[in-house]
Amino acid sequence: MSRIDQFASAEARAMDLLAEAAGLTAFALVKRGISLGSARRIARLSSVYFDPQTPFSRHRARCRSIGAHLALPDLETIEGFASKAKTLGGHKAAWELREYLCTLSGAKEIRREGAAKIAELESASDKSLAPKAGARFSRHGDMTRLTLTLDEHTMAEAQAVSISHAKQRSGEDFSKQQFAEAIANLITGADDAQRVETRRMIYAVVPLPELARIYRSEGDDLVVHMTDGTSMSGREFLEAEFEAEGLAALIDREEGPVDLYRTSRFASIKQRLLLHAKSTTCIWPGCNKGAEHCQAHHIVPWARGGPTNINNMAHLCKYHNGINDDDPTKPTGRGVILSRDGTIGWYSPRTGTFIKVYSPR
Ligand SMILES: [Zn+2]
Repeated sequence: MSRIDQFASAEARAMDLLAEAAGLTAFALVKRGISLGSARRIARLSSVYFDPQTPFSRHRARCRSIGAHLALPDLETIEGFASKAKTLGGHKAAWELREYLCTLSGAKEIRREGAAKIAELESASDKSLAPKAGARFSRHGDMTRLTLTLDEHTMAEAQAVSISHAKQRSGEDFSKQQFAEAIANLITGADDAQRVETRRMIYAVVPLPELARIYRSEGDDLVVHMTDGTSMSGREFLEAEFEAEGLAALIDREEGPVDLYRTSRFASIKQRLLLHAKSTTCIWPGCNKGAEHCQAHHIVPWARGGPTNINNMAHLCKYHNGINDDDPTKPTGRGVILSRDGTIGWYSPRTGTFIKVYSPR
């Protein structure tokens, strides 16, 4: 083999050369008689594909085999693109690019494809740039979209306040539209958040029959106790409630079922108020969990057609709501809250025991 052939062969199938140079420094290669410039290039590329210190990498192994045909200058070109890819997309992007370019042959093709891939990575990295703080209202037909972008801490607080406000207005299961309305009303001041918060915290505790009397305007002699420690006469209570929400229609029907509209915006607030009159704690026998921390439970489950009205509702804490045996497909064996002619009780299907926990009269 002539010296020219030897030179050409070493340059043409560079992976073999790099494999032999594995672990050698440029200085060691110079000592073997290679020029400093070539020694540096070989040592650098050898460390990319054959560094014995680097743990096994699937990408590297694949590159060695699919790039076996490549010449040294091709691998140098590839390395130039790989280094840009690393800046744009990290280690993984660099190896994916090496692997792709190693499948090609010819300097021209490698340069063309390398440049195209780098352009792709550049546009992807532009898109993934963190959004800038700002607010934008954009019209879409008769709807307008608000996009609000701020730092994560400010927005975390804004999110918590928005969710809490939406729950106060529309109940735990507020819809997307109700969520948006709650946020918009916070911004416009249509809802005074403080007022709603206060109303949520303060309840009047009135037995249902007394509440019915109040709403029939027979309750002037009654003293209504509020959960903030204050009290008012039945008449004052009636006036206050009429101003706030107009609950009269609901309670007037106490002798029959008291309807709450399933989709009513204020259903949950009314419901909770009424449920507090029914019990100030979880209704499960022996449980003292405060009603404020309870869930409004459907005695006949919603899924089986149970209506959202006061006769079908009771406070249950999260735990007792969880073990309440109301799903025949998943018996818990812990008993179930039932309503018999308006009397609510805990019933054990095993023993047939029925413990009254609430009676409307
Ligand atoms: Zn409980």
